[in-house]
Amino acid sequence: MSHVVLKFGGSSLGSPAHVQRVVGHVREQATQSPVAVVVSALGGTTDSLLALLDAAQRGDSEAVTDGLEALARDTTQYELPAAVGARLEILRGELRSLLEGVRLLGEVPDGVRDRVLAYGELVASQVVASALSVSGVPAQAVDARTWLLVEGPRGLVELDASFERLRTLQAGWGDCIPVVTGFIAQRRGGGTATLGRNGSDYSATLLAQGLGADQVQIWTDVDGVLSADPKLVDDARPLEQLSYDEALELATFGARVLHRRTMLPLRQDGISLWIRNLDAPDAPGTWITPLGSNDERNATSVTSLEGQILIDLQLQTVSRGGPLAERLHRALDPVVDQLWLATHSAHGQAMSVVVPAQNQQAVLKAITEAFAGELARGELKEPKVHGGVALLTLVAEAMGRTPNVAGRLFSALGSLGINVLAIGQSASARSISCVVRQESLPQAVRRVHDAFHLAHRRASLLVLGKGTVGSAMLTQIHEQAPVLEKEHGLELRVVGLADRRRVVTDSRGLALEDWSALLEGGEQTEGPWGPVTESVLDWLAGLHEPVLVDCTASGALAGLYEAAWSRGIHVVGANKKPLTLPLGTVDRLRAARAEAHRSWSYETTVGAALPVISTLQDLLRTGDRVTRIQGSLSGTLGFLCDALSGGMALDEAVGLAMERGFTEPRPQEDLAGTDAARKALILARELGLRLELCDVQVEPLVPQALLEIEGPQEFLGALGEFGAELRARIELEAKQGRRLRYLATVELEPQPSLVVGPVFVEESHPAFALRGAASLVAFTTRRYPRQPLVVQGPGAGGDVTAAGVLADVLGIALR
Ligand code: ADP
Ligand code: ASP
Ligand code: MG
Repeated sequence: MSHVVLKFGGSSLGSPAHVQRVVGHVREQATQSPVAVVVSALGGTTDSLLALLDAAQRGDSEAVTDGLEALARDTTQYELPAAVGARLEILRGELRSLLEGVRLLGEVPDGVRDRVLAYGELVASQVVASALSVSGVPAQAVDARTWLLVEGPRGLVELDASFERLRTLQAGWGDCIPVVTGFIAQRRGGGTATLGRNGSDYSATLLAQGLGADQVQIWTDVDGVLSADPKLVDDARPLEQLSYDEALELATFGARVLHRRTMLPLRQDGISLWIRNLDAPDAPGTWITPLGSNDERNATSVTSLEGQILIDLQLQTVSRGGPLAERLHRALDPVVDQLWLATHSAHGQAMSVVVPAQNQQAVLKAITEAFAGELARGELKEPKVHGGVALLTLVAEAMGRTPNVAGRLFSALGSLGINVLAIGQSASARSISCVVRQESLPQAVRRVHDAFHLAHRRASLLVLGKGTVGSAMLTQIHEQAPVLEKEHGLELRVVGLADRRRVVTDSRGLALEDWSALLEGGEQTEGPWGPVTESVLDWLAGLHEPVLVDCTASGALAGLYEAAWSRGIHVVGANKKPLTLPLGTVDRLRAARAEAHRSWSYETTVGAALPVISTLQDLLRTGDRVTRIQGSLSGTLGFLCDALSGGMALDEAVGLAMERGFTEPRPQEDLAGTDAARKALILARELGLRLELCDVQVEPLVPQALLEIEGPQEFLGALGEFGAELRARIELEAKQGRRLRYLATVELEPQPSLVVGPVFVEESHPAFALRGAASLVAFTTRRYPRQPLVVQGPGAGGDVTAAGVLADVLGIALR
């Protein structure tokens, strides 16, 4: 019966409890077939060893001592027989002296690095073998250096020699299950070699090949190979089937779950690989077989490689030395392990190379040497290096047979405004890669993943303000979310909520039933934008389709908007202040938004949910010319004018408006007309007028002297005399068939002007018939010269405004 090789990664060997589960799976598998085990270092050990090497090289003895102690502590958690404890003590002694040597030399001599790293796997094999033996499963730790041989600077495995040594070794195992160290090998001629990060995966498939096994199981901490890196895409889904080629492509382009060379031995002998989750052993996992999934509809996975640089090379004339690509390949082959090339011109005149950032110097040196002649003659431009880039790759077996994969990929990136620096499709047509700036990578990966995988979309909202609008919106989202999910495939999550002092966040979405209690317990920080800090924005930017929803009336959030856009966050605002800041600031905001290719939706700043801004934008976009906008823009003043026209006294009408919550706490602010002036300015600026708030000629409804009275009650008390005058005027005008309205008028001709104030209108005027707090905006344009285009309806109130804000959010999320 053939062997099954079980490989356990560091992620499955994080604690004694993990190791006990490992023992359980090995025991179970051993009842069905002969078993061999391959282990990586206990979780995190390899990283610690690399840090120790660094510390020793820097001469930081303290860090070395601390690091060694921490490693020793990692193993004291396990109950180990004395003999095993003694073996670990010897390994630690060796490690200590190796590091001491590095510290004295101030450098890491050849071969020492790999010997230091080997400590991790050597310890793990002792720990696991002993745990198996103690629980009655006879096992034996095996140092892979006793069979696996590699050669040359690239560490190529010598298969025949290795397998021959394996056969000899195997004879001595008897009934014991071998627990073989992954990752390490012996160098031809002596010394330790390692197979590269995640090399244990490769060790496992090599061992399987050597033992003639027909199956390898890689046990890790995720449900198999996922459709994207789960650290970037939290709803990445496991892939059931992959072909060797697809898996190879995935591993090559960054899916850390598999080492690149893992598939080589599988392919040669038709061995299947099953990737399983130690935390969820019943999950189906991923099967890697010769056939793969053959799913033509779905791309397999999107992967990324960070920490790369892009080097552009450009020939000025045809090179005498032959095509660029081929020579470049030859020059770089010895210096980089992993090279990605893209050609930009038909004749190979321009090339881009992507290599790991740590190879920059070596690569530039190789290029300068290989093209010394061309550089000297000025035929080749100096290589241009772009640092901080990442390679994003979409992999799909069936892609070559499906149309428009590239189109979907690039339109997904384009909709984010992500700049693609270079593009390439693999020769196998199984993958397509592009280079993007590192900062845009997380968003890019998520967007591409969404475009190819998700039946539904998701938006993540950070809501600022819990006043009438904010709280109404939270209630609406709470009620509407299930419908949106079911009918529009959109998952709307309020991931954060902030008031002036506190912020509460949860990337899975806050429970909205009791948001005010959540906010009470929120974090309290004081910064320029209240509690919303840069790090809150950084966090938000990492979520799906992030949107900042400003339901405040704060004038201090311009910087926050900019910071949001620069991180790829959309902004939806019911807040008028940012739009009425000085022109210089608003210009800067608009430029920042445009540069980031994000949205800024603010329909609710004029007339609540009425389609005022969008109507105006549509008129302008379709080439109409607006000559005049006139509107009753303030719900409070509209209500007052209507009540006064109906015969009510001024103080009584103001009192009633206050009672109904139609006014600010100080009604003077409404009667001053500033709110209407702000809205009018927003409309005027939308038209392109370069006006400031101080350019708006505002005539308050009541004389300035009255507005200066402090308290609301004193104010009401003082309204009598002016009220009587106004009454008389209203009655007089009524006799002429005119009614009092408080209107904003934007006039483009002959001069641009913006006037806000009380007006007596005739019956033919669209505002004549307005009732209660309704709003109205009338657009006189070239297309609508005599009878203006009118938008009219309830234009104030928490509920309608909130619904308008929600509509703006949906406009972005369902785009
Ligand atoms: P192990 O220690 O078991 O070898 P690794 O940390 O090397 O585990 O690899 C598993 C990790 O790889 C996962 O925890 C996950 O964070 C990461 N990963 C990145 N891309 C993918 C992907 N496409 N599918 C699955 N895991 C991925
Ligand atoms: N321990 C090594 C690493 O961390 C090898 C492996 O885990 O496969 O890269
Ligand atoms: Mg690994």
